[in-house]
Amino acid sequence: MRTIGLVGGMSWYSTAEYYRVINSRVQERLGGHASAPLVLVSLDFAEIRACQVSGDWERAAELLTDAARRCEQAGAESVLICTNLMHRVAEAVQASIEVPLLHIGDAIAARARSQGWHTLGLLGTRWVMEEDFYVDRLHDHGLDVVVPGTDDRAEVDRVIFDELTQGLVTPTSRERYLRVVADLAARGAQAVVLGCTEIEMLVSADDVAIGVLDSMTVHAEAAADLVLAR
Ligand code: GLU
Repeated sequence: MRTIGLVGGMSWYSTAEYYRVINSRVQERLGGHASAPLVLVSLDFAEIRACQVSGDWERAAELLTDAARRCEQAGAESVLICTNLMHRVAEAVQASIEVPLLHIGDAIAARARSQGWHTLGLLGTRWVMEEDFYVDRLHDHGLDVVVPGTDDRAEVDRVIFDELTQGLVTPTSRERYLRVVADLAARGAQAVVLGCTEIEMLVSADDVAIGVLDSMTVHAEAAADLVLAR
């Protein structure tokens, strides 16, 4: 098996799920007591969040590149950044290591294309929905992206940081998210990208009428496939 490095802790709620999904898939495939060879460098999310709020992406890039290098030094043959938003510094991270970075946008695009979906709604933090770094990655794969309107974007972002990344899941926020997804569907989305690794705590495929691309699961499954690749 190949060793995979996880840059995690953003937040730890979803990193714990990466660990579970990767190991479940490896055990499913190989049976018995098989589990994935993994290296985890888990950051202090308070420090990362402070960089986001102050717009200090340079410092955030330093923290993530240092973590990715530590994964590589510990034997990782590929590295994952276990969050959508922090792919904002993915180029700097890739440039600092020799081994490949498994980009979350590429994993999502591959899954979308395998399902025949070409127009995707996108939920995530405000930077993911509003800036180019994430949407362009999906465009590079020939996908169209629909994002929520201004008020909905603000609320989707607020729920992520005031609730989900602190482990809070509320029925009110679930209702609000489902309304936002329904609106994206009405605007042509064939599937919705849950483009924040904690949204799966709130919304599942059973809750919505269109397809769902849950970024944590899709990314973690792609990682498990790499672990098993020959
Ligand atoms: N986990 C979230 C994401 O996938 C947001 C937390 C963060 O990285 O700031 O974007």
